[in-house]
Amino acid sequence: MRFFVAMFSHETNTFSTIPTDRRQFEARDLRYGGELLEAYRGTGTCLGGMIEGAAARGVTLVPSVAAAASPAGRVVADFYAETKRRLLDDLRGAGGLDGVLLDLHGAMVPEPLEDGEGDLLRAVRETVGPAVPVAVTLDFHANVTHEMVRHATLLHGYKTYPHVDMDARGREAIERLLDVVAGRLRPTVAWRQPLLLPPIASQLTARGPMRLLYDRAAEMERDPRVVTVSIFAGFPLADIRDAGLSVYVATDHDPGLAAGLADELAATAWAHRNEFLHTAPPVDEAVARALAAPGRPVVLADIADNTGGGAAGDTTEILRELLRVGARQTTVACVWDADAVQACARAGVGATVTVDVGGKVDPSHGAPVRVTGRVRTLSDGRFVHRGPMFRGLEGRLGPTAVLDVNDVKIILISLRWQTLDPEMIRVVGIDPTAEKVLVVKSSVHYRAAFEPLAHAVIEVDAPGLSTSNLGRFTFKNLRRPIFPLDEFQPT
Ligand SMILES: [Zn+2]
Repeated sequence: MRFFVAMFSHETNTFSTIPTDRRQFEARDLRYGGELLEAYRGTGTCLGGMIEGAAARGVTLVPSVAAAASPAGRVVADFYAETKRRLLDDLRGAGGLDGVLLDLHGAMVPEPLEDGEGDLLRAVRETVGPAVPVAVTLDFHANVTHEMVRHATLLHGYKTYPHVDMDARGREAIERLLDVVAGRLRPTVAWRQPLLLPPIASQLTARGPMRLLYDRAAEMERDPRVVTVSIFAGFPLADIRDAGLSVYVATDHDPGLAAGLADELAATAWAHRNEFLHTAPPVDEAVARALAAPGRPVVLADIADNTGGGAAGDTTEILRELLRVGARQTTVACVWDADAVQACARAGVGATVTVDVGGKVDPSHGAPVRVTGRVRTLSDGRFVHRGPMFRGLEGRLGPTAVLDVNDVKIILISLRWQTLDPEMIRVVGIDPTAEKVLVVKSSVHYRAAFEPLAHAVIEVDAPGLSTSNLGRFTFKNLRRPIFPLDEFQPT
């Protein structure tokens, strides 16, 4: 049994001014061929699950490209075309294949297209023909389109946010693909797109409307006729027609059942739409509450400047307020500012420097903060994720400096990465549990690893491109009307 395997993953924030080019992929992950298997074996990722499943079932994997970049602006046309061509060339050259396994995101917007995965899957389908099954894992934030549904045999969306089930979805994808190849399963699918654009901070699956929907989906999946159910919360920071929540149900040769279940889940999501509305306290109030809290550490979640949602990761309003009120025993993790890192590196550990920190990518989200502090540590920014997310996977922050400004420790990084793992703080010599306040630039993912060690979590409504206030953006391509941007009753 031979399955082709590849990964091409990007979550595109079309409002970002940072183009996603080859360098952005090289900074995160860009591998070819057998390197894919070496890098991902044993990790808490979709590829990790697929590799484990293949080993358990005696499947030979034929590896192609693995390309992923931190969320940012559109994927540049050249890189998209080159990566697609390479993947298709590998597919044509792979010889006899029994199936195709793809680890995609579902919210990639390459120039000049709207729907990267739909385009890629159409090309994959044309290459392998109608008889070879194509199984795809997709992020919980996929903006699923008709083209993706049409050209994939089965889609498997993550069921958790924070995403702690990626390896489980990878294993599921290969198991169901084996069922299809063996003729044990004939997938029939239904897909629904209620007119909902939930902000990301309201999409967590620990509670709220996504928990409710996934509890019902879990009941549905107990029916042996149901193959898989995915409720994609969608990625709202993409000005494309198909952004937003959608429901995907696959059954075994029972289209009526798939349609009925998908209709029910779509109606349930709509009925609970108001629970997706999300607000957070403003910066001054949130900082005051953190400092007044009796325990430690208090996590201040900078939900609007989440690089994992395509924000810059360099906004400074929370830092500015912490300095203004004289906060101590505080760590700000992590500010993307390679220039500030270089200034610290030139000065050396122990030196006192004055630098402008952050606020350099997009002036509409605030200005740099001029600080004078002591360079506490310098490092290469390499670490290994301890999990639950990306367990075992290497992380790279690039050259990294910690600048200590009267006991406000600013972690400055050179490569954008969401603050989702306390290891990113430990690796630069700071014990996160000893701090009074931890600022983390993350919308929801931080919860998986930070909530267990935090005394309290306070979300902050600061400026940034991953804000919950979607009314701050001008959408031109999104289908309208849509909740919560428009007031309407669907017919
Ligand atoms: Zn996601």
